[in-house]
Amino acid sequence: MDLSREAATNRIAELEKEYQHYLKSPMNLTITRGVPGKEQLALSEPMLGLLNKPEDFISQETIDIRNYGELTGIYEAKKLFSELLGAGIEETVIGGNSSLSLMYLVLTTKFFMGEHPWQAEEKVKFLCPSPGYDRHFSMTEHLGIEMIPVEMDENGPKMDEVERLVSNDAAIKGIWCVPTYSNPTGVTYSDEVVDRLATMTTKAPDFTILWDNAYLVHHLTDVHETAKNILTTCKTVGNADRVWMFCSTSKITFPGAGVAALAASKANVALIADELSYQTIGYDKLNQMRHVKFLQNPEQVAAHMAKHAAILKPKFDLIKEKLHERFDGKPLVEWTEPAGGYFVHLTTLDGCATKIVAALDKIGVKVTNAGATYPYGKNPRDNSIRLAPTPVALADLDQAMNAIGLCIELVSLEKMYS
Ligand code: PMP
Repeated sequence: MDLSREAATNRIAELEKEYQHYLKSPMNLTITRGVPGKEQLALSEPMLGLLNKPEDFISQETIDIRNYGELTGIYEAKKLFSELLGAGIEETVIGGNSSLSLMYLVLTTKFFMGEHPWQAEEKVKFLCPSPGYDRHFSMTEHLGIEMIPVEMDENGPKMDEVERLVSNDAAIKGIWCVPTYSNPTGVTYSDEVVDRLATMTTKAPDFTILWDNAYLVHHLTDVHETAKNILTTCKTVGNADRVWMFCSTSKITFPGAGVAALAASKANVALIADELSYQTIGYDKLNQMRHVKFLQNPEQVAAHMAKHAAILKPKFDLIKEKLHERFDGKPLVEWTEPAGGYFVHLTTLDGCATKIVAALDKIGVKVTNAGATYPYGKNPRDNSIRLAPTPVALADLDQAMNAIGLCIELVSLEKMYS
């Protein structure tokens, strides 16, 4: 930005004055976590009343879903989720309310079970495309897995770097991927990235891709981005056991009371089913049936998601407009304009993100901690901020964006001209 020192000093003083006003009467706004808003939750309320006749409790005409059993899920749920994930019914396992706990189950199974449990290794490492999902990283850290950050670009993880790393180090056992409308950058992996992940040569023979397709149907516009089916590609090239695909209805129906699913090769499904059998006699089949009756098929899911989009799009549009209005022609921040998912990602000037988040916090606007989307909470460039606008009312978001714009401009100018 081409401001004379005098013009910059004047502008900083102006912004400081505005900031002082906010300090005197702080707001109370939280845009930290990607959760659906109340209006979105209301969309799925009718689901709760769908099991009300004796025949509603019978799956496939024989199984009483009120009772124990059906460890890997009822047929109807497997059918629906297998269609959503693009896998065979026998390649699909229905879990409880959380896909994260299925991911944890896969990781602990790899650690302790199978022919070559990872616990026997001196060191286990995972590639973590960054910025990424903070809960993936905390799970990996909790399990004592060393995290190696890999940069993301507009096509997904930078594959030259991924291939170089996995071909040289047998301790690198896997990679986290959010292939559609990635958390937080909104990137959908290109076909080339998917193909390279499926086919690349890895020094670890049991290299594992955790394919968290949390946002697979979460489109915001008519452009429906879809990552290529990696299980199909893995099978074609003889790496069927490399990938585990996950999704859940947490952001389709109710987070916390949804249904999660995974899809993998038949061998992997057998491995996980065995492991599951020591943990549970079966998940909540009533909830599975409620979801099947409500969501029915991929077309109905798409119609339901269009209702979510109608609520969410104005929020994403508002953020876009506010950022354009304030920063067009001023290279102080870059932002994503995702076609789906739950987040907008801001790339600030290096060394500014933590200060911006702290400045916002002081005036009552809470956004996700600046480093949270990086392994160990550390972003060496300190340039990444995640906005999660979904639960915030439009009027509040408008106010929050004024404050965000102010803090970005103030902190950046101070950095540039101090
Ligand atoms: N994966 C990603 C990428 C997410 O963003 C989230 C929710 N924030 C989850 C998983 C959580 O999924 P679940 O509720 O199914 O555990």
